[in-house]
Amino acid sequence: MERSTIVRVHEGLHARPATRFVKLAKGFESDVELVKDGKAVSAKSSVKLMLLAVKENQEVTVRANGADAIEAIEALIGYLENPKAGLDDEAESQSPANDAGQKTAPAPVPETAPAAPAGASGLRGVAASEGFAIGPAFAHFPPDIAGQGRMLQAEEIAGEVHRFRAAVAAVQARMDRALAQDTLSAGDRGIIAALRDIAADDSLTGETEGLIKGGNDAVSAVITAASTIAADFSVVDDHYLNARADDVHAVGRQICLVLLGQDDVSLENIPEGAILIADDIGAWDLARAPLKRIGGVVCGHGGATSHIAIIARSHGIPAVLGLGDQVNALRTAREVAIDGNAGHVIIDPDAATRTDFANRVEAAAKERAGLTVFKTVTPKLADGTIIEVAANIGSLEEIEAAQEAGAMGVGLFRTELLFMRHMHLPSEDMQAETYAALAKAFAPYPVIVRTLDIGGDKPIAGIEFPDEENPFLGWRGIRMCLDRPDIFKQQLRALLRAAVHGNIKVMLPMVSDISEVRRTRGLVEECAAELKAEGVPHATFDLGVMIETPAAVLIAPALAKEVAFFSIGTNDLTQYIMAADRLNPTVAKLNDVTNPAVMMAIELTAKAGVAAGIMVGMCGEAAGRPDLVPMFVKMGLTELSMSPASIQRAKKTIMAMAGED
Ligand code: PEP
Ligand code: MG
Repeated sequence: MERSTIVRVHEGLHARPATRFVKLAKGFESDVELVKDGKAVSAKSSVKLMLLAVKENQEVTVRANGADAIEAIEALIGYLENPKAGLDDEAESQSPANDAGQKTAPAPVPETAPAAPAGASGLRGVAASEGFAIGPAFAHFPPDIAGQGRMLQAEEIAGEVHRFRAAVAAVQARMDRALAQDTLSAGDRGIIAALRDIAADDSLTGETEGLIKGGNDAVSAVITAASTIAADFSVVDDHYLNARADDVHAVGRQICLVLLGQDDVSLENIPEGAILIADDIGAWDLARAPLKRIGGVVCGHGGATSHIAIIARSHGIPAVLGLGDQVNALRTAREVAIDGNAGHVIIDPDAATRTDFANRVEAAAKERAGLTVFKTVTPKLADGTIIEVAANIGSLEEIEAAQEAGAMGVGLFRTELLFMRHMHLPSEDMQAETYAALAKAFAPYPVIVRTLDIGGDKPIAGIEFPDEENPFLGWRGIRMCLDRPDIFKQQLRALLRAAVHGNIKVMLPMVSDISEVRRTRGLVEECAAELKAEGVPHATFDLGVMIETPAAVLIAPALAKEVAFFSIGTNDLTQYIMAADRLNPTVAKLNDVTNPAVMMAIELTAKAGVAAGIMVGMCGEAAGRPDLVPMFVKMGLTELSMSPASIQRAKKTIMAMAGED
């Protein structure tokens, strides 16, 4: 028998909801399946359920076969329709791995001029967790685990299955012990709980046992089974599920180590303040490492939204990830300095760099202690004007850190990440869900979503970019979007749909001609008419532009008549005004926002916006610089958007201005 329903579980059957659904299903004798789009999976496997990628508001069917089928369907449909009712593990669910999230604000750090650019002894990676650190290098390169590659004799198979089951039980017990510690933070608890669920899941054990029964030794079988399941997670159109691939590998490794009677290379003995260097660190390893002692993290793998980045940010540990093979250059380093704001790693720094980093670290610690009181402050000038201090974020995982820091909305949501971390373009539905989640999280504060700003230097799957001599002067931002209405319209439709859920505003990057705004407005109207005809709920949004090209500055008075707001993108504006590539360390000196030419451009923009009566904000890195904030506010800017770590300091700076007036 079967029954269909619409899923009301917030954000769908991700990790913890999937586990709770499985727990419920396992309470019945009947075989139970969940069916979506004609695909049926066992409701007793959380891995299979996650891979079905069931989203909120989708239709699914629960199918049961057995003595208690009616009761099973009743209970499971009840959960899907009203997930909060009747569960006994809600307390545990308060810390879902799904949130994988920062439960505490990252430590604010001084954000003065960027640290020394990566030179001969410097490497550049992804700036995954802010802050500066310098300390002894602690290289963590555990050896790869290999199976025996031996075919078992028939009489050995039962014993090998038994050995495997005992290893799984040992890993589960170890994870349960870790979860029982009350010192564990909520975020880490969620991550370990998700790993335990994978260790306990029938998919991994079933697949492995099948391979052992086919004659493979247990270690080879676990490696193969984990790779197969991880590959399934990697291809789902959902960034959260993609990241589960790493979790499956981490769990597989733990099981193999027990089978081999080996302990993993331990992080237990990491020296105080050391910089942890690894090709990859499993979330499990990092979450149970002595995090208080770790000064910084540098990794070959990982990106801004990987679990390592999330753990590092939530513990205020600076991190530079995604170095690729370059990380091997650090294997023999004695000392390492890292700049988590810019993504720089300096190997064996010289005396001057050492002093510089030591000063930055000390200043950050002192400042951090005094800033938290500003979290709930609404900064006002003497005349009562409120200055909105908002957050720059690039993924839903960063919402919590922004809120914890006291962000008054989002001044820049970079949508590139959404496009870059998938194997193909994100669907309209997926985008609409993401933007709606943001709008809901910050309502009534505004969330300014920037339309896709991708350029020839950073191609993404699904869009073919031409080879360009000068990609920064090429087919990027609004130029590419207007040439590809098939992609752009999906994003605009998703934004119109999300605007129903909160205060969504939209801004266009790289604008250099007024026709770009007009053509976009035409497309927005076209999308709204389509949605209306289709009966899809949607709402209008304010349309603004980023001011980041000299052309936009010079036509600002005309632009101001056509848009609802300006947001000054000082990162690009500086490189274009100064004709100095923002990625080229050789011209880093010229790439200076305080150069009079750039400050003049900012002032001209502010004047044009103020004269037209529209909001003028800033979302480039300069918006968070306490030395510049008073100048920007005096020019008439009423919104400053920055990384969450800079918010409290900016609020303090604005409050101090009010005191001086
Ligand atoms: C800018 O250019 O200032 C900006 C905020 O955009 P991005 O850094 O993403 O190019
Ligand atoms: Mg820019």
